[in-house]
Amino acid sequence: MHKAVILTIGDELLIGQTIDTNSAWMGGELNKLGIRIEEKIAIQDTREGIISGIERAMSKANIVLITGGLGPTKDDITKKVMADHFGMKMKFDEPTWERIEGLFARWGRSTTPAHRDQCYMPDGAKILENKMGTAPGMLFEVDGKMLISMPGVPYEMKYIMEYSVLPMLEENYTDQAIIHHTILTAGEGESRIAAQIEDITERLPEHISIAYLPNLGTVKLRLTAIGKDKNKLTEEVKVYGSQIENILGDLVYGHNQENLPSVIGKIALEKKLKIGTAESCTGGLVASKIVSIPGSSAYFEGSVVTYSYKLKETLLNVNTDTLNKQGAVSEETVNEMVAGAIDHLGVDVAVAISGIAGPGGGTEEKPVGTVWIACGNKKKTVTLKIKAGKNRQKNIEYASNYAMNVLRKFLQAQ
Ligand code: AMP
Ligand code: MG
Repeated sequence: MHKAVILTIGDELLIGQTIDTNSAWMGGELNKLGIRIEEKIAIQDTREGIISGIERAMSKANIVLITGGLGPTKDDITKKVMADHFGMKMKFDEPTWERIEGLFARWGRSTTPAHRDQCYMPDGAKILENKMGTAPGMLFEVDGKMLISMPGVPYEMKYIMEYSVLPMLEENYTDQAIIHHTILTAGEGESRIAAQIEDITERLPEHISIAYLPNLGTVKLRLTAIGKDKNKLTEEVKVYGSQIENILGDLVYGHNQENLPSVIGKIALEKKLKIGTAESCTGGLVASKIVSIPGSSAYFEGSVVTYSYKLKETLLNVNTDTLNKQGAVSEETVNEMVAGAIDHLGVDVAVAISGIAGPGGGTEEKPVGTVWIACGNKKKTVTLKIKAGKNRQKNIEYASNYAMNVLRKFLQAQ
């Protein structure tokens, strides 16, 4: 199996000024090709740092992807350091110069001497075209290993990866077929899910692995099979996938590229049900997620965001008595919000959310993170209370995902 190390260069990455998104993206792309990522290394813009990073990377892998330090400024030294380290001379690269001149002519700007300096390339490196910016990528082949150096600007790196690097890797560095199958779940945490399906995951053959990808209120289970025979892998993943789904039952809401709003849309369309939301602490986030799906107007009527007592009363007919006695965050209130939404929005099914997002506003009885959710139609309403955490943003996201899952299950049961 081919192995890769990803090396990111730049002081700004180490001090958290720039978040290293490059290596996350590159890791994902390599993984799709069945190339194992041995390590990610982040280093300073110093000669010693770059050399030690390269040496470590070359000792671990036969493919080294490098980003950063190719700009025109003084701190960008990657190219020179690599050329020196591999004993290559710098040579003026005419095609690169013509391309940069062309770029600047199009922008109506003139080039600077630094741009001419940028055209000196290590004479043993293959130049990888960068249509998005001035610094091209470089491919070095040294001691049977391949090193690719690219600019740090994410869209420039992606251009070089997509047009030069990935096609080359696919052609020469993967002899494997890779099959991914993702099972989407909501309503249970990662460790409980893992415990439920332990009997199956313990028997998975060596070439099939499972990854748990938790989010707020949802967990993705990704099965990956690597091998020679694509059809056999597809079949195997399907068999293990359905065994897992049988155990998890209605925790599973979808597969692969689906998400909760898309699944809600699919079911609502199938069952010809109109839906709406009545939201307090989520401030319309559930509605916003539902309308992110193209074609949602076919089943989504709309939403009311009722944050105050007053609007809960006037727009949703929630009883003043209920609010005063039980509070806005209560089973009774969300129940009445659902009834009010069905009436006023003219929908078949409505979901209502009311909670304490925090950081203030909690009491002993109702601590921050307490959220009541109700979902129902004219005949029946289900309610439940969840306990989220202390972080406002996360609580809002968690409550909206949870509410969508309650809605999904309610629709499925119709
Ligand atoms: P450089 O090629 O080092 O001149 O990088 C140019 C710009 O790309 C920097 O100013 C950063 O903002 C950005 N950048 C560099 N490395 C990364 C990385 N690993 N992930 C995301 N952005 C990056
Ligand atoms: Mg830099």
